[in-house]
Amino acid sequence: MDFNIPEDTQEIINGLKQFIEKKVIPLEEKNEELLTNPRKYFTEDGRHAPEVEELRKEVRMESARAGFYNMFGAKELGGEEFGPVTAVLVQEFLNKHYPNNKLIHPIVIPSPFTNGLTPVLNGLNDNLKSKYIDGIRSGEKTLCFALSEPDAGSDVWNLKTKAVKDGSEWVINGTKQWITNAPYADYCLLFAITEPELKERRKGGITCFFVETSSEGFSVDSAIPVMGDLGGEAGIISLDNLRVSQENIVGELHMGFSRAISGINTGRLGMSGKCVGSAQWALKKAVDYSQIRETFGKKIGEHQMVQQMLADCAIDIYAARNMALNCAWKIENTKKQPRKEISMVKAFCTEMMGRVYDRAIQIHGGVGVTNELGLEEGYRLARILRIPDGTSEIHRRTIAKSLLSGDLTF
Ligand SMILES: Cc1cc2nc3c(=O)[nH]c(=O)nc-3n(C[C@H](O)[C@H](O)[C@H](O)COP(=O)(O)OP(=O)(O)OC[C@H]3O[C@@H](n4cnc5c(N)ncnc54)[C@H](O)[C@@H]3O)c2cc1C
Repeated sequence: MDFNIPEDTQEIINGLKQFIEKKVIPLEEKNEELLTNPRKYFTEDGRHAPEVEELRKEVRMESARAGFYNMFGAKELGGEEFGPVTAVLVQEFLNKHYPNNKLIHPIVIPSPFTNGLTPVLNGLNDNLKSKYIDGIRSGEKTLCFALSEPDAGSDVWNLKTKAVKDGSEWVINGTKQWITNAPYADYCLLFAITEPELKERRKGGITCFFVETSSEGFSVDSAIPVMGDLGGEAGIISLDNLRVSQENIVGELHMGFSRAISGINTGRLGMSGKCVGSAQWALKKAVDYSQIRETFGKKIGEHQMVQQMLADCAIDIYAARNMALNCAWKIENTKKQPRKEISMVKAFCTEMMGRVYDRAIQIHGGVGVTNELGLEEGYRLARILRIPDGTSEIHRRTIAKSLLSGDLTF
């Protein structure tokens, strides 16, 4: 096995660093007050302020022009189709050096399967591709991925949103919840029941539709504030007699779930890279602080209990990093999707990030819980990441099912 960073991935990381330092950081510095003061960042109703959205769009479009925004998109959509090893390493880099930068995540590189050139878009027909893909590829237009509902999160088959055929159109009614980027998106990948009987048997019956969010009958009722923020990225969508043309079906009728999960695994590995990078940033802070702060006449790094916390962070990070890279390597080299391993990596890396931030905060004592250092921000993010893209429990369920069906390979 070759554990070196592939040469072209290293070149991408070098280019990304230059791009961020030259284009993004100056923009962040110029708009510091807007980006760091939550009272300015969000409007009263919890949505991003219009100036924030303008800046995000500017960075997306710059990133697309510089060749980074579409790095993981399929070639047939005009992307570069880099694989999961690069996804892990790029996210590790971004989060190790810029974990809390508001104009970097998830803007320079879009969320892997819910925005940008998501593989779900491969299922668009040629007409729709020629109408919409250029706008998405340039970063001008964004998407959201609307699967979850108030009664359908882990249990996705419990969807209630229905589409009923009326001539050459489908009429859709229902509610979607937790939809990232919904308040800001131009287009939505919307999942609805089209064949209730198939859906009851959990054999299909759910279809993915490509919808313009400005359509009559599509509205975003609210943005959902999460974990101590004054607003949020995710929203609640109401569908009230929304009419969608048959032509806007993505992929095959009744087979929306296979669309939904295409690409999800690159996303999960990218998320794991994010956790690995961000945890390294937090550990570096903890190590630095341990060498300056003194109690009882010595540096706190000389106390064995502090040393143990540092060592436990390193053990966690090393294990998570190698797990994520090995799993990504397996996908790239076997072209198979090792479900059990992907679930182990997603659960372990997100939980590992929480443990590392918890210890890093503890090592900083009182200053660790202030808003000054960025540690509490990372801690909140780590707590959130255990829920989307499959909760830790659902991943353990997948792992146990594989084991019990005889897959004991590692
Ligand atoms: C920040 C954020 C962004 C999101 N973005 C999107 C998005 O863009 N698009 C989208 O479609 N969805 C999105 N989601 C929704 C996300 O996928 C769901 O929240 C997630 O699948 C969990 O569903 P739930 O919230 O309904 O919890 P539930 O499914 O109700 O689960 C509640 C608890 O029960 C546990 N549980 C459930 N079933 C089992 C079981 N069989 N065995 C053991 N434990 C179980 C869960 O692990 C959890 O602890 C997002 C969520 C969040 C928090």
